Amino acid sequence: MTRYYCMECGYKHTPKSGTSNRCPWCGGRNVRQEMSAGELLKDTNHFF
Ligand SMILES: [Zn+2]
Repeated sequence: MTRYYCMECGYKHTPKSGTSNRCPWCGGRNVRQEMSAGELLKDTNHFF
């Protein structure tokens, strides 16, 4: 399952139909696709 999270407010959601680019909570467009646990760990190391 593909999940997305908002870079602006951190809200995570599963897009239903054609809403993957918008955050349903704050309406922000800075939404990224959530990665698997392994990639998320790698991503975290990259950020910190
Ligand atoms: Zn948001």
